[in-house]
Amino acid sequence: GTSAESYRRRHEITVTGEDVPPPFTSFEATGFPSELLREVHNAGFSAPTPIQAQSWPIALLNRDIVAIAKTGSGKTLGYLIPGFIHLKRRRNDPRLGPTVLVLSPTRELATQIQDEAVKFGRSSKISCTCLYGGAPKGPQLKELDRGTDIVVATPGRLNDILEMRRVSLHQISFLVLDEADRMLDMGFEPQIRKIVKEVPSRRQTLMYTATWPKEVRKIAADLLMNPVQVNIGNVDE
Ligand code: ADP
Ligand code: MG
Repeated sequence: GTSAESYRRRHEITVTGEDVPPPFTSFEATGFPSELLREVHNAGFSAPTPIQAQSWPIALLNRDIVAIAKTGSGKTLGYLIPGFIHLKRRRNDPRLGPTVLVLSPTRELATQIQDEAVKFGRSSKISCTCLYGGAPKGPQLKELDRGTDIVVATPGRLNDILEMRRVSLHQISFLVLDEADRMLDMGFEPQIRKIVKEVPSRRQTLMYTATWPKEVRKIAADLLMNPVQVNIGNVDE
């Protein structure tokens, strides 16, 4: 078989969809801008993780992705770096609203994503604001008012701020649902659907989940367009 097939076999990657591009088996193969390559090098990473290797080339083609992979597999940079490159290609005035939206189930996870976005996005001059409950809204609103490229948010707090009309999602063209199965388990489905109604339908959507039960399949079918599905390892249903 091809080297793409042997890489996928070795790393237990299965893909479903039309014309799936081969994985990037090294950072050199990604063609990422030099400042991003410098960041991953500075972080001490020697190669893309399997989910990164397979989802990066798909995401860079502006295709929708549903990725099913366990915790600790490097999913965050799997979507953040394509988000950064998306921002380079079509950056709006951040004062009109964010371009990239990441939904995450908890404050803790949202904060971790924010930290990773700040660390890896700094040299690309990308700004990121984190919105979560259990903390005063004031500082979060102030940050939004300054303008931001990326919003990382828990669904509850983002909905509160949307209802206050203090953020607009009309510039969003890159949407990520991280830990989708957990968000649904936590009862966030109505909030997610309300949020997505505010996001233009001309967008790229990436969904990450550790499991693939029918509730997650349903929301994927509703929110994603002709996605490529990437599985790493065995999938629990
Ligand atoms: P997940 O979201 O799949 O649970 P994370 O994105 O949180 O995983 O990544 C887990 C850890 O792996 C983080 O500390 C992250 O910085 C690190 N990591 C990400 N990509 C790589 C890579 N290519 N090589 C080595 N470590 C990586
Ligand atoms: Mg994660």
